[in-house]
This record gives sequence, structure tokens and C-alpha cells, in this order.
Amino acid sequence: MSTLLITHPACLDHLTPAGHPERPDRLRAVERALEAEKFQNLDRAQAPAAPFEIIALCHPLEYITELRDATPREGILHLDADTAMSSGSFEAALRAAGGAMHAVDEVLAKRASNAFVATRPPGHHAETARPMGFCLFDNAAIAARYAQKQYGLARAAIVDFDVHHGNGSQEIFWADKSVMYCSTHQMPLYPGTGALIETGEYDTVVNAPLRPGDGGEKFRAAFAERILPRLRDFGPELIVISAGFDAHMRDPLANLNLEEADFAWATQNIMEVADQCAGGRVVSLLEGGYDLKALGGSVAAHVLALMHG
Ligand SMILES: [Zn+2]
Repeated sequence: MSTLLITHPACLDHLTPAGHPERPDRLRAVERALEAEKFQNLDRAQAPAAPFEIIALCHPLEYITELRDATPREGILHLDADTAMSSGSFEAALRAAGGAMHAVDEVLAKRASNAFVATRPPGHHAETARPMGFCLFDNAAIAARYAQKQYGLARAAIVDFDVHHGNGSQEIFWADKSVMYCSTHQMPLYPGTGALIETGEYDTVVNAPLRPGDGGEKFRAAFAERILPRLRDFGPELIVISAGFDAHMRDPLANLNLEEADFAWATQNIMEVADQCAGGRVVSLLEGGYDLKALGGSVAAHVLALMHG
């Protein structure tokens, strides 16, 4: 079995205002990085559009249809100060959620050892009924709930190493003891959530905030001391990674100082827990990462780790 790479050209048609960091070139940088010789053995698939009822596992149907109906025919519609839609955005969001769903199908059916989904818009800031922080649907949350619904998993976990806290994933699973949400992120930083004391209704939310200027050593310590032991105790049957690469030192939106090797290390350690309790099942979804060079290099390191452990 190989690692599966899922993407879709429709994700390039989600346009944002000029100068916006979450731009189509991000996906082009990821695709370029994964064209290298060493990625030849990746299986590759196109993301299907998620059916509304799958997205509705995490978002009310009216929220989905309101976004569809709000889609502008031309130009850019601002949903909030950071989040915008163009004519291609709704289709891109359906493909991003559908890529997450397809990754779960392929990994759970053992047709892929694990999967990386390179799509946009990202997802982890989207709350139950609110688009936010460049995100329309919470793809990681949809993957976790879909795996439970479709395959009867009792427990799933989301591990989020994007530099921003995944307020949406935390909100969606705040009172759901069947899904653990773990996050390292810079604090203070947008969106402001993710303090240590935010632990969810059933102590299944695990936040490990880092300070501006922290680097690989502090990041790895947060993982090793706070996140991995909790993950092991919880014993998820699937691990979904909210793989944002904006904690890289070159990233313009934040001030953590991670390098490519830190993302590879985190990936390997998540895979180790997955091997212990989840039959190795890992589905990784692209979230942030706004310096194109850092994004390409970091995704390459992450996917190599997925391929080789
Ligand atoms: Zn981010």
C-alpha cells in the first residue's frame, strides 16, 4: 500500500482579494514540490465533491445552502475581514471536504496506507455555523465524523499543528467525548482561543500553546509531553492531522521558528501512535502555510514522512 495524494484543480478557482495570503499559488507550490522524483510512488486521486449530507455531519444544512446561495457570480464577496468567496469558492470547498471524505474511505478500506489531502480553502477555523479565518467547512471535523458514521469508529482524534488554534474543530467537538482534539499553536495569536485551561466538556480537548519566538525544541517538547501521551491514552482508531505549515520560521503570519525537520518529526510521532492504536490509519489535510518556499519544503518533508514513517 502507498500513501495517497488527493487534490483537485477546482481548488485553484477559489480566489481571494489581491494580497491575501491564502491564495491559489499555495496549492501550485505544493503540487510543484510533490512532482519531485522521490514522490513518484505516491498514488494520486482527484477529490470528489462532498455530498451535502456528509458536510452536514458537522454543519447545519441551512449553513451549507446559505453559502451556496451567497456564492458571487463575479468578483469577491467578503464574509468577514479575513474570509472571502469568489465564483469558484463553493465548488472548491465541496472538493476540500470531499477530499477529506475520500481519504477516510481509502484509508479505512485499506486501499491506502495513509493519505495527504492538498486542497483549499482550509478548514479548522470554520465553526458549526460560521465561516472564519479563510475557512468555510471544517474538513478535519468532517473527516473524523464521517469515519465514525460510515465505519463505526468509536474514537477518532484530530492533531492540529497549524500555528493558529483550530477554534472551529474545538467548538465542534467541545462536548463530544468520542473525538479528541489536540493542538499546538502560537499564543497570543489569531483567533485567540486555545488556552491550556480549555479542555472541553469531557477533557478531550488538549491545547499546548507556544509563545512567539519558540522554536523546534519547545514545539517537540509540547508534543512529547502534552499531546502524544494524551493521544496514546485516548486510543483513537483514526488520526486526522490538521497539517498547517505556518509555524515555519519563514511564514509571514506568525512567529514560531519551526523548520521542515520539525514537521517531519511531528508526523513520525503521530504515525507511531497511529501504529500503536489505530492500525496506522492517518489522514492528513492541508490547513495553513503562507510562505510558498517554506510551504513546498514543509509539505515535502511531511509527505515523505507519511510515505516512509
Ligand atoms: Zn494557520
